[in-house]
Amino acid sequence: MKQETSASPKCDSPLDAVVVGAGFSGLYALYRLRDRLGLNVRVYEAGGGVGGTWYWNRYPGARCDVPSYSYSYSFSEELDQEWRWSEKCAPQPEIEHYLNHVTDRFDLRRDIRFNTRVISATYDEASRVWTIGTHDSGTNEHWSVQARFFISAAGLLSTGNIPPYKGLDTFKGETYFTGAWPHEKVDFRGRRVGIIGTGSTGIQVIPVVAQEAAHLTVFQRTPHYSIPSRNAPTDPRTEQEIKANYPELRRKERHSPLGLPDDLPTQSALEVSAEERWRIYERAWQAGGFRLLVDSFKDLMTSREANRTISEFLAEKIRERVRNPEIAEKLIPKHPFGTKRPALDTEYFETFNRSNVTLVDLKATPIEAITPDGIRTRAGEHALDSLIFATGFDAFTGSLVRMNIRGRGGVRLEDHWAEGPRTLLGFASHSFPNLFMICGPQSGVYFNVARNIEQHVDWIADCIQYMRQHEYVSIEPTTEGEARWAACVQDAANATFIPETDSWWVGANIPGKPRVMLRYIGGTVAYRNACAEVAAKGYEGFVLTRGAAGTAAASVSERTSVEST
Ligand code: FAD
Ligand code: NAP
Repeated sequence: MKQETSASPKCDSPLDAVVVGAGFSGLYALYRLRDRLGLNVRVYEAGGGVGGTWYWNRYPGARCDVPSYSYSYSFSEELDQEWRWSEKCAPQPEIEHYLNHVTDRFDLRRDIRFNTRVISATYDEASRVWTIGTHDSGTNEHWSVQARFFISAAGLLSTGNIPPYKGLDTFKGETYFTGAWPHEKVDFRGRRVGIIGTGSTGIQVIPVVAQEAAHLTVFQRTPHYSIPSRNAPTDPRTEQEIKANYPELRRKERHSPLGLPDDLPTQSALEVSAEERWRIYERAWQAGGFRLLVDSFKDLMTSREANRTISEFLAEKIRERVRNPEIAEKLIPKHPFGTKRPALDTEYFETFNRSNVTLVDLKATPIEAITPDGIRTRAGEHALDSLIFATGFDAFTGSLVRMNIRGRGGVRLEDHWAEGPRTLLGFASHSFPNLFMICGPQSGVYFNVARNIEQHVDWIADCIQYMRQHEYVSIEPTTEGEARWAACVQDAANATFIPETDSWWVGANIPGKPRVMLRYIGGTVAYRNACAEVAAKGYEGFVLTRGAAGTAAASVSERTSVEST
């Protein structure tokens, strides 16, 4: 039986750093700060295990779409050599298993508190220390701990978005959100299932559930581009080649715009004849996955005319894959390709050829209410036994603002970001000293997020190391530094037409969220250079402060640096 919540929180011994989240980011941050910098670090994780995205998103069909040999850590050559991926794009259980393996191999588990949510973080100016409040859902206890550094690894896609439909609570059947899927298998046999959402997640779930359910009704608001992933079991020869060349492949990933070990195309889509262009698209399409970006043309996202050619190619492919021309037209996106994150699929469009699948176009017939027996649209009622929400996330800022973070003078992070996030490089915000964000808003996050995460963590660790070497106790961006970075984010966005389309990249999926570009889309190389330049100039755009530090802070400067020895 659960205890009553304690009135005043219990206090834990002070730490050098608190990290929120035990996904790809939090695990690497723990390793890097504890084992390489020698800090006293603890990770708090709301979930019951490690994995983050790969702990929560257990829905049928969940897998990565970036090839696993790239979508994995690169910091340990031994890890690269010993781990074996069974498929080109590994399924969720295997990625979760990998992250558990990493956790145990590097002895990380002992410093992670599971089932513990960070519910507040308050900066004290006098002691220059953060006080972090947590809630343990296992014991129902509140705890507080002090740390000099407060590091968010809380995830860019970890706070779910379930639209508050009228009548939602009245539904008599089962409801599921893909981002918090049950651990036990859900049996859809014989059931009439509805699914709302046709982004990357919906595109993965729909073909799998359609094979099991008696009937599947897909409620689509916006059609999405999708390319066949051509996923397959790992070919032993390819694996051998990758492992023989891993260091070089990892180096290339770090410096390529997509985080993949491939050179990008150099020719314009408009330089070649229409026939040649089609041939190039067709070849890349047959290869599957992101080959369509890697092996095609350089200007698909900068020239509207070039973009039209690939958008038309993909529309034609939908017409080929879907037998009913009326349904095919409903599935063809109207926005330019790549202005929402494209999806990869296995038999997604073909699923609409099945007799047990119905497509409902919500633009034509919007949802009026969820009823006890299903969903009522303007055209009538769809009877359902189960309802799946594949409706995405309050991306980048959702998990941060929900932590109730208060900086200097009690300023709340959500107030500082009321008109959209303000950061320097996506790592830090003015008025929030020693708060660092991994995959924060305005940071460089591209296709292979694993590569971005390592770069973010390395930059943050190097910054902390610099502070120790120079005896600084706090760091925060200036308002000018934030404004300069905001201009860079805006310039990069303006160089493309990506911001024109409604997507989670611009916050348009969440009603009331400021519509601003949430990623720096100038490319990995430009982003890495910007980060390196700021560091090389003694953290230009930041204010670094020397002086007496509180208990937790003092312990940092006293500790021997592992990296500097
Ligand atoms: P997460 O993995 O989201 O981990 C954050 C953790 O923080 C969560 O476990 C959460 O419980 C915890 N947390 C949040 N708030 C609190 C709090 N207040 N207190 C305590 N704990 C908290 N990227 C790719 O590059 N390739 C892919 O193929 C790919 N596929 C994806 C598939 C899905 C279904 C989704 C949703 C995302 C995918 N992504 C992919 C993006 C993916 O989110 C990142 O690649 C990466 O896993 C993010 O890792 P993270 O550790 O930063 O965040
Ligand atoms: P998403 O791309 O935001 O898609 C959410 C879907 O729900 C969209 O179709 C959206 O329609 C719909 N939706 C949202 N609110 C709605 C409402 N009120 N009424 C009707 N429909 C509504 O979210 P996601 O599919 O979970 O993907 C998010 C990101 O996670 C991806 O872009 C990708 O980066 C990552 N991901 C990757 C993989 C992979 O293949 N490895 C798998 C899943 C997710 P609109 O488009 O009209 O808003």
